[in-house]
Amino acid sequence: MVYKKVIDKGEKPKRLFIGGVHGHEGLTTIKALSQISDVDVKNGNLTIYNFDESHYISTLDRHYYNLDMGKKIVSIIRDLKPEMYVELHCYNSNSFERLTDTNRKEHTGVPPLIHLEKGVLIGSISPYIRTSLFDEWDVCITLEIPCKPSKESMDVYLNVMRAVATSKDKYELLDNLRVDYSDQVDTAAKYAVELYWDGYPPL
Ligand SMILES: [Zn+2]
Repeated sequence: MVYKKVIDKGEKPKRLFIGGVHGHEGLTTIKALSQISDVDVKNGNLTIYNFDESHYISTLDRHYYNLDMGKKIVSIIRDLKPEMYVELHCYNSNSFERLTDTNRKEHTGVPPLIHLEKGVLIGSISPYIRTSLFDEWDVCITLEIPCKPSKESMDVYLNVMRAVATSKDKYELLDNLRVDYSDQVDTAAKYAVELYWDGYPPL
């Protein structure tokens, strides 16, 4: 069953959260997405989707976007044209080192994910859609949580989602994130410049 919820408090900004992009992740991400409610959105709107199980291919593999699931995500983004996009993922705890490995770019072409706290990781989205479907100053976030999360991990995951849901643009979101995660935002900015160009915004 596909979970869909729209919270509409105005035209802009348009926000989109998607969980369950591949494999069994939707079974975990629904637990967070179903907790986002009307009070979490102060302005603009938020559309939430969570999908059931599907074939697992990494979103860093371009073949992902030829699968039904990949095509569905691209079409949702094209239809909605969100200024803020959060892709919810989960990982097996034994993948933590691999996902945060400072040499990750050599193996996968993308920078490591950044540890916020309690096992919650943040990064940008797949380069296959980051620059083709979004503008530079759109917010594009991948959030990862252990697939069997502790309550503490879930709280951090939800706090970041709520920071996006309440921020009106990237400036406000970065200010909000810097309160607790100043070093992590600086690291994200460094990685964005390395991946794209000088002055490219983090996330
Ligand atoms: Zn994933």
